[in-house]
Amino acid sequence: MRLKLLKYSNAVNIILLHKNLRLSDNPALYFGCKAKESIIIYIYDKNYWQSNGKSQRQFKFCLDCLSDLEQKLNELNRDLYVFEGDLVRLAKWINKNFPQSKIFLNQSTDIGYYKDQHKKFIKEFSSFKRLTEYEDFGIQTKNHNRDNWSSNWHKIMNQSLVPPPDISSAKRSKPSGLITFESFKKTSSAEDLNNINIQLGGENEAKKLLMSFLEKRVDGYSSKMSSPSEAEYSCSRLSPHITFGTLSIKAIFQEVQKRMNSSPFRKDLYSFKKRLHWHCHFIQKLETEPELEFKSMHSMCDSLREKEDKELVEKWISGETGFPFLDACMTYLRQHGWINFRMRAMIMSFASYNLWQPWQETSPRLAELFVDYEPGIHICQVQMQSGVTGINLPRIYSVLKQSSDQDPSAIWIKSQINSLKNIDPKNIHEAELNEIYHKKIIDLNASAKKARDTIWSVRKGSDFKRIARDVYLKHGSRLRRA
Ligand SMILES: Cc1cc2nc3c(=O)[nH]c(=O)nc-3n(C[C@H](O)[C@H](O)[C@H](O)COP(=O)(O)OP(=O)(O)OC[C@H]3O[C@@H](n4cnc5c(N)ncnc54)[C@H](O)[C@@H]3O)c2cc1C
Repeated sequence: MRLKLLKYSNAVNIILLHKNLRLSDNPALYFGCKAKESIIIYIYDKNYWQSNGKSQRQFKFCLDCLSDLEQKLNELNRDLYVFEGDLVRLAKWINKNFPQSKIFLNQSTDIGYYKDQHKKFIKEFSSFKRLTEYEDFGIQTKNHNRDNWSSNWHKIMNQSLVPPPDISSAKRSKPSGLITFESFKKTSSAEDLNNINIQLGGENEAKKLLMSFLEKRVDGYSSKMSSPSEAEYSCSRLSPHITFGTLSIKAIFQEVQKRMNSSPFRKDLYSFKKRLHWHCHFIQKLETEPELEFKSMHSMCDSLREKEDKELVEKWISGETGFPFLDACMTYLRQHGWINFRMRAMIMSFASYNLWQPWQETSPRLAELFVDYEPGIHICQVQMQSGVTGINLPRIYSVLKQSSDQDPSAIWIKSQINSLKNIDPKNIHEAELNEIYHKKIIDLNASAKKARDTIWSVRKGSDFKRIARDVYLKHGSRLRRA
């Protein structure tokens, strides 16, 4: 044991994986693998996977990504290990077993649980210059100034991609206290998810999706993205891959750029490229102000909705609201772990405006259903669709209007709710179904009016405007006003 320690302790590099589960354009992996000895570790922290919005379906996707990565690492004569425990325990393990090692990781903007652990971990090593952390995608950890954020983002997107690590000639041996990914996978159970139809993870899968999107599926993207049935095919479907980092945003951005001038789908490509920017723009807000996980962007909005009505929230999240289009969206989301932007916004708007439920309670319930749960995007979008940012005009979606606009013949709704298959689309859109279907849990028009009046009564005051100005300076996109 002692001999083994001495053998490792001088030159070994430790590479930690949290997200960014890919071989290419992965700076921590590339630079960390440059030493003669390197150990690649995925940190599995059970408490993290039970924290705010995290779920088994996300973990299942993560396992796919790790399997694919392990295979690729094996081809380079490297192993993937798992450390079971939190970052604080990992720091102790590193100090005990590899006191001279260098540590490499990629930054991740994540929920408070991870952030707290990460802070303690960094502190443990910072004074010895043993740790290198690389910035993630376009998130800027040192520059929170929105005036030049966007131009920096474009510079980052145009930087060269980092190649995969080289093939290693080092002998492969297993450090004590770690388990191989292979045995971890056998013992770790993502609860029985066989009946649901979520996307496959892994870098290969991500590349296939990107190519099929850029070459074919992008045709009509900007107009088809609003309908839940068309969006399934016409959106890129890259979101879980971007969340778990099987592709880097930079790599996607550069593939888009290559095609920009020659593609017959320029308008659609442009619309897609804009969203890659939004991805980082939203995550940057949580990076700049981690308190947003629990507190509204505009401080005067937290007292608007104080108490949760558990029964209403249960009916909403289970898709038993009595409004067929909304319920169909929930059924689809449960089954696929994904739904398009417009429907996510409508689902959230219904919970926050019509049901008047505090977003802090509904946000994690919804997040758990998304395989692509990205706290920075999710929480900021939830706040936006709840009218609590102060910098976005409140938009209350009408579930009835969305129903007839997005699915005029109600074919998609019927595909999700079998019991409505013989019902006239008009009755479905108007949610006039009497005893055939769930009783409506709310009066849609009256609740929307009440919500609008309440929100606007707060927004009118001068204090509100002053605080909103500060929110804009801290988080607002400068692009819209350019
Ligand atoms: C309430 C709510 C919660 C959301 N939660 C998440 C989440 O947890 N994770 C997530 O990735 N997206 C979230 N979104 C944004 C958006 O709905 C998804 O990114 C999109 O539906 C994913 O499908 P896609 O990859 O096919 O998207 P595409 O339309 O193909 O877009 C490509 C990529 O651009 C980014 N993107 C697209 N739209 C947005 C947007 N409005 N804001 C920020 N980035 C965007 C995503 O990374 C996406 O993968 C949320 C939106 C709302 C309204």
